[in-house]
Amino acid sequence: MVIGNCKLEIVNWKLKLRRRALVLLAFVPAVISSAVPASGLERLKRVSDRFYFFQGDFGNPNSGVIVTPGGLVVIDAQWSTAAAADFLREIREVSDRPVRFLVYTHAHADHVSGAHALARGATVVASASTVREMEKRGREMVDALKERTRNQADDLPLVLPALTFSVRAALRIGGVDVVLIDAGRGHSWGDTAVFLPDEGILYAADLVTTNRFPWIRDSSSREWLAALSRLSAETGGPVERVFPGHGEPGGSASIEKTKRLLESIRREVGAALDAGLSTFEAQRAIRLPEFSSLDNYEFRLPPAVGRVYEEMEAEKEGIAPGHSEWAE
Ligand SMILES: [Zn+2]
Repeated sequence: MVIGNCKLEIVNWKLKLRRRALVLLAFVPAVISSAVPASGLERLKRVSDRFYFFQGDFGNPNSGVIVTPGGLVVIDAQWSTAAAADFLREIREVSDRPVRFLVYTHAHADHVSGAHALARGATVVASASTVREMEKRGREMVDALKERTRNQADDLPLVLPALTFSVRAALRIGGVDVVLIDAGRGHSWGDTAVFLPDEGILYAADLVTTNRFPWIRDSSSREWLAALSRLSAETGGPVERVFPGHGEPGGSASIEKTKRLLESIRREVGAALDAGLSTFEAQRAIRLPEFSSLDNYEFRLPPAVGRVYEEMEAEKEGIAPGHSEWAE
């Protein structure tokens, strides 16, 4: 399939072009014309000739940029139009090429809400499960983000992807191979990682943690572990440079660390269930010393235990747990 001068090599795709989504791109607020970054920070760092990493401040979401002679591929859209405008301003300091594709790694509002600033003229791409989640809970997640950010997030309609895929999609743009890996349910109800095989770079987004305790609220810890194994299988082994959706860059050890963290919670929660502890008792009792130095450990461990408790209790009864109200 060819979009513009970009070739898409499709492996087991259920390809779908979504015309309705394109209409939403007409909503572009005036704030994107601002030339002065709200933060005043320079956060876009060159990682290789092809890849730049944008690290959100104070744990705000990260993004990535793949620079090719055929245009740019942007990974994740930031949490507001203003934040995305800052990001775009920094992109313009390293390249004046058009954004050809904007990839959403998952549906959480802090990763997609700034798309109005980035998606003009670009094709927005996401996995089918991410699109389903945006359609089902997009509004609810935006409202939750607004509440958490004291209304700094936008009230614009979400930009829904125009192109969806399942399992795996190989994009060749300007001679650069970009592989989209649909890792399935894990941190969210559908997580995608972006792999640059020639650069040894994997943007694993919220599937992977480095220096921050992960957000485990609408996650499935069991499927998250399977998703991490799928990532390793799809990349054909360890990847030198791994980038999370929040916090510091990492390496292949970050994937192993995230696996150990999830396994530790499941082990502790399983023991609590066997001992007959209530959710509240488990949340009070469980500590994970190996991970206590991670940012947000104290704040995020109790809800993570609560979520995994709910999940493992449902596993015992053969019931899939429902959504949580909150999501990062
Ligand atoms: Zn997330």
